[in-house]
Amino acid sequence: MASDEFDIIRRFFNSGEIAFPIPEVGLGIGDDCALLRPATGMQLAMSMDILQEGVHFLPDADPYLLGKRTLLVNLSDLAAMGARPLCFTLGLCLPAADEVWLGSFSKGLAQVAREHNCPLIGGDLSASSPVHGSKTLCVQVHGELPVDSGLRRSGAKVGDLIYVTGSLGDAAAGLQVLSNTCKESLNEEHRAALVDAFFVPESRIEAGLMLRSLATSCIDLSDGLASDLVHILRASAVGASIALDALPLSVAVRAAHNEAEQRQLAISGGDDYELCFTVGSKNEEAMQRALGSIGVPVTRIGIITEGTQVQWCEFGEPIALEASGYKHFHAASEDLVQVTH
Ligand code: ADP
Ligand code: MG
Repeated sequence: MASDEFDIIRRFFNSGEIAFPIPEVGLGIGDDCALLRPATGMQLAMSMDILQEGVHFLPDADPYLLGKRTLLVNLSDLAAMGARPLCFTLGLCLPAADEVWLGSFSKGLAQVAREHNCPLIGGDLSASSPVHGSKTLCVQVHGELPVDSGLRRSGAKVGDLIYVTGSLGDAAAGLQVLSNTCKESLNEEHRAALVDAFFVPESRIEAGLMLRSLATSCIDLSDGLASDLVHILRASAVGASIALDALPLSVAVRAAHNEAEQRQLAISGGDDYELCFTVGSKNEEAMQRALGSIGVPVTRIGIITEGTQVQWCEFGEPIALEASGYKHFHAASEDLVQVTH
């Protein structure tokens, strides 16, 4: 351990690369608190995500990509709320002051921070418990949006159309590539695309900002469609009919898996960080134009119905399906070391 806590903060985190100034941050790293200056008429949006080694990422994960992912998964929650990123704080529990790891991790974080003009403003650093000795990475992200706005989970209405951005199942398939459980014949290009989807989910911030005035509800897909859609349904007291044949699948997922597996990944695989949202039919065209104008692909996958359940359909016919996403502390998943949120 060449560096102590304060050397690490100074060298890897309190740098112009990652802790750059923005007008809304009155005071950044260095005092007991950072000070924010929210603009008049705006409200703050805050969200936190923990990434735990052995649960959310594999022990040998590339630290640069992990740095990117740590911030991107947090930004995804802001996107789902229709908030613009402002800044973030970072909590780290590390078993050792590995400077190579810290250098790459902070570079990955800085890259995404710069891309979103979202600087690091503070945090905490601790040695991991010697009992477990694994890494825990925690980000709290702060965003802003006008008072009385925000894309809630609770606004879906019967007859609204259900859409997702991007494609589904790529990140879960990427995890299989990383853990060497994908099919051997899968070519390098497809492997790379899937791993990339896992580590560097597409930012949907711009899409979220546009959806703020067009969608009736929204959630980001962290645990898988089957699980996350239910959050919208519960919050909105509605049901849904989903067309399995309409789920968007990438070329790489199609190359990596047979049809049944593709479908399983698309509905139950986590970590895609795409947006799932509902839109009234009167705003459907405007939404397609808006997201088309920023190059974000969207696919209509179903419709909001009366009731409380999801009806899965194939080519217009209802089918029975046991589908669920990942749940921490769920009995059946207790033994799994699975990368998910
Ligand atoms: P305190 O003991 O008052 O909580 P610390 O000594 O832990 O403060 O941290 C000193 C300063 O460094 C604070 O401004 C804190 O926000 C910042 N800091 C600590 N850890 C990190 C980190 N991992 N990334 C960015 N800033 C950090
Ligand atoms: Mg203090």
